[in-house]
Amino acid sequence: MPKMMTAALLTKLNAPLELVKVPVPEIANDEVLVKLETNGLCFTDVQIWKGEHAPPSLPLIMGHEGIGRVVATGSNATRLRVGDRVGIGYVHGACGHCRDCLTGGENYCPEFTATGYSQPGCFAEFVALRDHWTNKIPEGIDPIEAAPLMCAGAAAYASLKRTGVQTGDTIAIFGMGGLGQYGVQIAKLSGMRVIAVDIANDKLAKAKELGADECVEAGENAGAAIKALGGAHGCVNFAPVTATWPMMLDACNPRATIVLTGVPAGEMAFYTYQVVERGLTVRGSSASNRQEMAELLALSASGRIKGVIKTRPFNEIDAALNDLNQGRVEGRIVLTMEGGA
Ligand SMILES: [Zn+2]
Ligand SMILES: [Zn+2]
Repeated sequence: MPKMMTAALLTKLNAPLELVKVPVPEIANDEVLVKLETNGLCFTDVQIWKGEHAPPSLPLIMGHEGIGRVVATGSNATRLRVGDRVGIGYVHGACGHCRDCLTGGENYCPEFTATGYSQPGCFAEFVALRDHWTNKIPEGIDPIEAAPLMCAGAAAYASLKRTGVQTGDTIAIFGMGGLGQYGVQIAKLSGMRVIAVDIANDKLAKAKELGADECVEAGENAGAAIKALGGAHGCVNFAPVTATWPMMLDACNPRATIVLTGVPAGEMAFYTYQVVERGLTVRGSSASNRQEMAELLALSASGRIKGVIKTRPFNEIDAALNDLNQGRVEGRIVLTMEGGA
C-alpha cells in the first residue's frame, strides 16, 4: 500500500483546489480503505468551496459521490471485503442509536457526519469509510453511472418517496438539473404521471426524452398550466430558487404534498389559507438513508435509470468545479481517477 496519495485539497475558500500529495488515510478498526475509481461533482461542493456552506475546518478534501474498491479492512470491519465495489454519499455515518437513527432517519441524526464536509471526502486516490455506513454497489452498475447516484440520485429518490404520490397519480417536478433528471426516471418507474417544470426549454426537451408525460415552462402561469393538466398530487422542488414556490402552491390538488429539496437562500412566504383550506403538507427532504440508497441501487442495476453524465479526468477538477459554478453543465460531472474506471 502506498504511503502517500494525490488529493485535491481545499486550503482557502473560493481559491483553486490544490492537487498535492498527502498521507493515505489510516483506517480505524471499524473502517475500510477504498481506492477510488470515480468521483461525482455536486453543487454542494461548489457551495462548500465558495463558503456558502462553509466547512467546519480547512484544509479539506471535498467529494461525496465517490465509487471505488475496498483495498483494506479494519479488524472489526466484517461486513465489507477487499475487492467489493462500494460508494458513499453525503452521509458518512451517524450515531446509530438515537430515535432518528432507529426509525429510518439516520440522515437527520443530530450527530451525523458528512463526507467531504466534516469528514475527509473522496476527491483523492483513497478514502477511509465506515464499514456499516458504506453502500455496496451491485454488479451491473458501472462506476461512472454509480457516482451521481450516491447524492443526486439518492436525494431524488428519497424526495419522491416523501411526496407519498401513488401509482397513477400526478407528480410535478420542478427543476430539470441532475436531480430532476433522475426524479423523472424514478417517478416513471414508480408508475406516476410526471409533469416536468423548468425555465429552460432545452432542459424540458431532455426531460421528455427521459420519460416526462408533460412539460411546463416555469413562470407566472405554470401553476395554472399544471392545474389545466389535472393538477398535482405532489410537487418536488429541486430548483435552487424560491420562484417555484408560488407555482407549486397553485399547482397542488387538495391534500397534495410539497417536498422541498433544493435549498435557495431566500424565504418562501405563503398565506395560511393556501395550505390550510386544501389540507396541503409541506416537507423537507435531505440526502437519503441507507435503505433508500439500496432500493435506488437495485432499481439502477436493472439498467432503467441512466444519468446524464459528462466525464472528465480527475486532474481537471478545478475547471469542472468552475463550469458547475457558472451553470455550464447539462447533467452531472463525473471525474475519472487515473488507473480507475
Ligand atoms: Zn451532493
Ligand atoms: Zn443518531
